Amino acid sequence: MLMRELYRLIYLSHNEITGNSNCIHREIGDILAISRKLNADAGITGALMFNKNCFAQILEGAHHRIQETFERIQCDPRHSRVAILDFKPIQNRSFAHWSMAYVGQENLAAQEFMQIQKDSEFDMNRLTGETIFSLLRSHLYAAEQDNSCKV
Ligand code: FAD
Repeated sequence: MLMRELYRLIYLSHNEITGNSNCIHREIGDILAISRKLNADAGITGALMFNKNCFAQILEGAHHRIQETFERIQCDPRHSRVAILDFKPIQNRSFAHWSMAYVGQENLAAQEFMQIQKDSEFDMNRLTGETIFSLLRSHLYAAEQDNSCKV
């Protein structure tokens, strides 16, 4: 049944947070704090990647829970041009241990993400959900071992 099935949504968006790195760090900290609280309440798991220009996020959970959460996320003025890359049913969660894992711009995965963006000439339409998923999954699988993926 649709409502009970697990889904995974992957999107990209443009950063609209301005200011120095302290301001950006504080805003991201606020986003993560509210996300981790509300996602835990809604049974949503996932990961957020940030690299100055862009956000990439993965949300996993029940269909209606993802919809509710994503409706709020889309309206948030801290980012713009939100583009869904993937929204499909899944068998199992890949980020089961994270109400919202975070990969920041100093991180290797975010640097790889920047390179992927450069290779696609910053054309969002040329990035796939699979690219984002593989990057975050492989990175966070390693990070789970040392619990190092905090803001
Ligand atoms: P309220 O906190 O009542 O805020 C009201 C409005 O103001 C909302 O539109 C909100 O987006 C906006 N707002 C709140 N704080 C600020 C601020 N500092 N500056 C500018 N506008 C602000 N939420 C989740 O629950 N789960 C997630 O996984 C998640 N991921 C996010 C990823 C990104 C990239 C961004 C930018 C936001 C994310 N959020 C997430 C936050 C989400 O957009 C909402 O702010 C949050 O869910 C609270 O919703 P609310 O309706 O209670 O908003």
